[in-house]
Amino acid sequence: MPTRRQPPSLQCPLAVPSPGQRRRFRRVLLRWYGRNGRDLPWRRTDDPYHILVSEIMLQQTQVDRVLPKYHEWLRKYPSLEALAGAGEDAAVKTWYPLGYNIRPRRLHAIAREAVTRFGGELPSDENTLRSFKGIGPYTAGALMSFAFRKRAPILDTNVARVLFRVVIGRGHPKSHRMRKHLWKVSELMVPRKRAFDFNQAIMDFGALVCVARRPKCENCPMSDMCRAYPFDPRHESQSAMVRR
Ligand code: SF4
Repeated sequence: MPTRRQPPSLQCPLAVPSPGQRRRFRRVLLRWYGRNGRDLPWRRTDDPYHILVSEIMLQQTQVDRVLPKYHEWLRKYPSLEALAGAGEDAAVKTWYPLGYNIRPRRLHAIAREAVTRFGGELPSDENTLRSFKGIGPYTAGALMSFAFRKRAPILDTNVARVLFRVVIGRGHPKSHRMRKHLWKVSELMVPRKRAFDFNQAIMDFGALVCVARRPKCENCPMSDMCRAYPFDPRHESQSAMVRR
């Protein structure tokens, strides 16, 4: 019986970094971070609630717009109990002008759930975190890594872009298949030691060097191991967009 031919993109396996490439990537990235990493308030705390607030604010918003709101929010709602005890509309009002108001509503619902189910704490187990409505794979990974200091992968837009370019180079960076693969790559890349620094570093690298439109390839410490170097936007097809 004749078999159906698959399109070429489904026939070839996606690249996975070798152990040597992983070691090199980590070494170069952590060295770059030591010299260029940003000093951000949510990097100086291990309070899961504070980290949750920063992660949800940063989902659609630049760091410089998040900074003042992050401080204001924590002054007004210093704990999950304080947020849960406030009205949802008041939380949305405090959120202004960050926009995407589903985010403060989600945060408020998480606070209520944390108070009802866990006495006002966020659990340190990834599966339990994922059981909260409003905590998806990225937020759970960020909490595991940044609050509970576990070796957990993350994959936000910046991280996905860097991993895609360095490891894969060409294709549909936002397709469902690629997204799934990049989670695997992220998991392989996170080192056993310094997982927290590594994840912060790769986010900064994507925000400051390997940016979406005009990555700074000419001064990039990854250029000799990067499959997208020199960057050409025509190699990144945007045709298969999916949400994270
Ligand atoms: Fe990004 Fe260019 Fe560096 Fe590759 S060489 S990681 S595309 S900035």
